[in-house]
Amino acid sequence: MEKVDVLIIGGGGACYPAALRLAESGYNIVMADPKGQLGGNCLYMGCIPSKTVREMAQLKERTERILNHKVNVNYSFIQDHKDNVQETRFLQHSNDLKSFPNLKFLGEKVMLKDANHASIGSTEIEAKYIIVGTGTEPNKVNFPGSEYCITSDDIFTYKSKIRSLPSDMVIIGGGYIALEVATIYNILGSKVHVLVRSGKLLDRVEPYLVSSLINSMDKNIDIQMNSPLESVEEKDGKKIVHYSDSSGNKKEISTEMVLLATGRKPVLPEGIDKAGIKLDERGYIKVDESMKSNIANIYATGDVNGLSPYFHSAVRQSIVAANNIMANGKAVDYFDSNAVPITIFTFPPISYIGITPIAAKARGIDYIEGIYKFKNDAKAQMYDELAGEIRIFFEKGSLRAIGAWIIGIDSPSLINELGIAIANGLNARQIADYADQHPTTNEGISAAARSIL
Ligand code: ADP
Repeated sequence: MEKVDVLIIGGGGACYPAALRLAESGYNIVMADPKGQLGGNCLYMGCIPSKTVREMAQLKERTERILNHKVNVNYSFIQDHKDNVQETRFLQHSNDLKSFPNLKFLGEKVMLKDANHASIGSTEIEAKYIIVGTGTEPNKVNFPGSEYCITSDDIFTYKSKIRSLPSDMVIIGGGYIALEVATIYNILGSKVHVLVRSGKLLDRVEPYLVSSLINSMDKNIDIQMNSPLESVEEKDGKKIVHYSDSSGNKKEISTEMVLLATGRKPVLPEGIDKAGIKLDERGYIKVDESMKSNIANIYATGDVNGLSPYFHSAVRQSIVAANNIMANGKAVDYFDSNAVPITIFTFPPISYIGITPIAAKARGIDYIEGIYKFKNDAKAQMYDELAGEIRIFFEKGSLRAIGAWIIGIDSPSLINELGIAIANGLNARQIADYADQHPTTNEGISAAARSIL
């Protein structure tokens, strides 16, 4: 029986920041993940590989559009490059681990036995504290022929077997993964069809953002709303997708690849019940703002608690759990889900943070909008990417920035400056007075604030 201060279940963003912080402070830690690598699903098959491929698509799109130079995509090269990026980061993480003899990492699954005991392969562990950060996985729906379909994990996983670009693909779903993959592969050169069961894309995203995205998205992407999938069959090396269209007519598409983007679901370690850990009604581990579960010595961080399923939230939650463990379980640090930047990495990208109109209305908050249109922006003009805007929502009276969105160029980076402003309660005057670097799209942030003063 190995006795440790903290057992950390998983090796993703929900886990390794806590492990490193606790190790620095001298705690004895065992962390385990069957991947045998740190970085979790985000690095192994999620955000890092998908955004590497997206950056390559962005290069192609800009080169063709601005330099008028046709790029023939060597997809296997893109996949090799993606694998290289992943390897660089695996190595970086394993070097981090080497600095701490008091932090042991095992490449196996953890099985809980009770609230203080677990087994990891043949190793039996007794732990004072436990952090569960086991993440989520694609929710693969079952229907006739579902075995012929893949998920985004199959495309983006480390050393993916998919090395050639599909000439044609059908994506099932209308969420962020469906639209990101659709816009990326459309640029790389695949003919993309998206079948959406409902009449709505990006459920829960502000309608203005959704309609701006739909208006700016390449019209070559075939998006069919109210078109439920019925079955998929394989015939002569092709996949035949059967569905009904919005008028209820039976239709089919013959394609090379069918991608299911039908949401994600929590992954729970075996023995969660033996440890007495309670789940919420959706099956995620229930936690409070200090990341503590219903069991006093067990914390659950990252995607598995369903609070905010983003890598950067997982990292912050991981540090919150570590800080609270270092305070002997007293809640001294809290996760604030009000100022988490969210980006949908489509072409164009859309980003948002904090309280935007729907939430403001629900909370009865009056606001004033400061708007900056990219058509007036120097860098947007350099790239001829004039659609889109920066919009900041200021509370009426105090003029405190409470939320923002950005549609278009550089939105994934720009949203961070606004995040700092919102998280720290800056007001329109303070944002307006800051001289953002010229000529970058950041200038639009102070300009949007100035527009209301
Ligand atoms: P997060 O962003 O919340 O860290 P990820 O999905 O990126 O979530 O990472 C979760 C990690 O947890 C994955 O790498 C997965 O292999 C690991 N994991 C899942 N179940 C177990 C388990 N029972 N024991 C150890 N690790 C696990």
